[in-house]
Amino acid sequence: MTTFKDLGLNENIIKALTDLGYENPTEIQEKAIPQVLASKADLKAFAQTGTGKTAAFGLPILEQIDVNSKDTQAIILSPTRELALQIAKNIEEFSKYMKGFNVAAVYGGASIDEQVRKLKKGVHVVVGTPGRTVDLINRKQLKLENVKWLILDEADEMLNMGFKDELDKILAVTPKEKQTLLFSATFPREVESIAKNYMHKPVEISAGEKNKGSDQVSHQYYVVSERNRYNALKRIADVNPDIYSIIFCRTRRETQEIADKLIKDGYNADALHGDLSQAQRDSVMEKFRNKTLQILVATDVAARGLDVNDLTHVINHKLPDQMESYTHRSGRTGRAGKVGISIAIVTSREKGKLRPIERLIGKQFVSTPVPTGKEICQNQLLKLIDKVHDIKVNDTEINDFLPSIYEKLEGLDREELIKRFVSLEFNTFLSYYQNAPDLNDSDQMRGSDRGSDTRGKRRDDENMSRFFINIGRKDNLNPARLIGLINDQKIAKNIEIGQIEILDTFSFFELDKNYQEETIASFKENSADFEGRNVNVEITEKKRTGRSGGRRDGGSSSDRGDRRSGGGDRKRSRDRKPEGDFSGFGRKRPDSKSAFGSTEKSSKRRKR
Ligand code: AMP
Repeated sequence: MTTFKDLGLNENIIKALTDLGYENPTEIQEKAIPQVLASKADLKAFAQTGTGKTAAFGLPILEQIDVNSKDTQAIILSPTRELALQIAKNIEEFSKYMKGFNVAAVYGGASIDEQVRKLKKGVHVVVGTPGRTVDLINRKQLKLENVKWLILDEADEMLNMGFKDELDKILAVTPKEKQTLLFSATFPREVESIAKNYMHKPVEISAGEKNKGSDQVSHQYYVVSERNRYNALKRIADVNPDIYSIIFCRTRRETQEIADKLIKDGYNADALHGDLSQAQRDSVMEKFRNKTLQILVATDVAARGLDVNDLTHVINHKLPDQMESYTHRSGRTGRAGKVGISIAIVTSREKGKLRPIERLIGKQFVSTPVPTGKEICQNQLLKLIDKVHDIKVNDTEINDFLPSIYEKLEGLDREELIKRFVSLEFNTFLSYYQNAPDLNDSDQMRGSDRGSDTRGKRRDDENMSRFFINIGRKDNLNPARLIGLINDQKIAKNIEIGQIEILDTFSFFELDKNYQEETIASFKENSADFEGRNVNVEITEKKRTGRSGGRRDGGSSSDRGDRRSGGGDRKRSRDRKPEGDFSGFGRKRPDSKSAFGSTEKSSKRRKR
């Protein structure tokens, strides 16, 4: 295996790398470092984020820097303040044992005077965002006439962000004979034209194929109806108790909305977008980096430069408008040798966007069913059991209480005790998901995927019986409460609820035809009542409605099913605060107001 020494780096640098835990060079480092050390030729490097490119350009430059000169010898341009700071930090770490060496980051949104003061002391390597760099050049505070290296990091992103003019200006004030190193994860036309216009016969290196995604990332897609998009998102979080993820949204507004909903539903989530102040963004990023925060909902731009290596999932709440952005999004996971999953939640209409992305990343999306309630419960239960298994018992504190505890639990055997303790923590979760519907828009799964998905079968109206119930809007009945009432009758497990029609003094609902008799019997046997009124349920003739007819109280049958399970849970969740951390990491309570379609819709309306 190649070592950093083999690549021609000196002892001081190798010592610093050892301190950082870098044992061997990554592929891009192995290719770029000897090239830059041995040749003055320009370099065009394809490198995904997270492949170690900072060291790939940083180390050979440090190796050749003249610390005895006060000139700025290298300028590294990066698209965002966060990335600039990250690069400067890395370079500072690499140069830990290089006496007299200085690096500084210059970026917008911070005091320019402070940055000028730093530059005045003599900085060998400047890492800057394009706007602030131009500003400092114009003020004659940043002198680039002696730079030997110009590095364009994430060149595609800089162009995406509209920094073409700034790049032109900066390139114009640097000496002709410098060495230009261009690093980019994708090579759209604009990047190629920068390379063509500003580089002289560049050597090309690439770790992996150009524009292709990392091999460490698997790509999955879920097909859901628009109204189930958010519920699908929650299920992804719920089925992965240890999820550490960025959810990408297309607009700042969408980002904030999704984050607000997740927070309201008890998830450990927060938003990151350009409408936040720099201080707010810094605080959110810090929380996410140190894993106090489990889910970050972010725009593409705001998430740039966030250096986290162990994301378990990248979730595309909606696919990006530009295909290249998908590569960047998915490249946030599967970094530094780790594996990751990139998930696209799409509606049937959006499926067409997957093919061109597949061509771009050179990989196929795998059609994946949205996790079922059962799968979620299983994963959460196992997580809970792991926690119980690993919990550190404080013997000295607990010993005094044990005799009276044993006395109280006398007569319960091991199995019974386990069941009860687990139920204590887990009942709310179970009841939330016990009748959770299938969220897959299975008719819409692509080609061969269709046959393989057995969970995606939707019941048609023929399988439903229609019931009359003698309570309505005037009794304060709404779809959620009706679902709760049906739930309370415990007719059968996983029974599906169809259309609901709430009228002033009576209502109709549909239930699985196979349980027609049981439904009538359950309501009778339980002497069901609603707000003090005796409830009477009868079978009524089925009314044929069109797809949208008779659906004014809710969405598809699957959507309602979610409300059904939520309906039972809502009472509980109102009565109590979240009791703690179910998943051990983030999910605090499984109940969710958003599971009540109508409640959610009306609250949205109020907001507007
Ligand atoms: P970068 O692509 O430069 O942002 O690097 C991605 C991550 O990989 C950073 O956290 C680096 O610290 C880490 N890294 C880079 N090179 C190596 C290496 N040779 N060995 C171990 N970790 C590395």
